[in-house]
Amino acid sequence: MRSRIKMTLAKRLLQEANCLLEEYYRQPIEEVMTDLRIRCFIDKDAHDPIQLLYGLHFSRLFYQVKDEPAVRLRDAIARFVDGGYGRCLHCGNEIPSEWLIRSPLLEYCSTCMVKEKPSLRAAEERETSLEFSTG
Ligand SMILES: [Zn+2]
Repeated sequence: MRSRIKMTLAKRLLQEANCLLEEYYRQPIEEVMTDLRIRCFIDKDAHDPIQLLYGLHFSRLFYQVKDEPAVRLRDAIARFVDGGYGRCLHCGNEIPSEWLIRSPLLEYCSTCMVKEKPSLRAAEERETSLEFSTG
């Protein structure tokens, strides 16, 4: 994966994390990051999204939460850190990066999504075609 795309995807995952942190912990991500800095999970002046994601991953912040969106985010971050992010969980094919930028928690390629989650695929296609038709 090219580093510019990787950086964009790291930012998108952080945005998703931000939404979930607000929802579950009523805490904006900046506060959480400050806390992680104090606890040395990330360098005190780190602003690189990839490094922040690693910090989130190793802090195991989302590990107590059992709700689906948080679990999906946690797993996506784990794949980002350990490798395998952006590959279909079913067949291992690469998921197009435009799709991931739009939906950073995507787990399946288009072919497998038809089998696994047809409704999701329809939603993705609507969004994707909208995106490209409006330029
Ligand atoms: Zn697949």
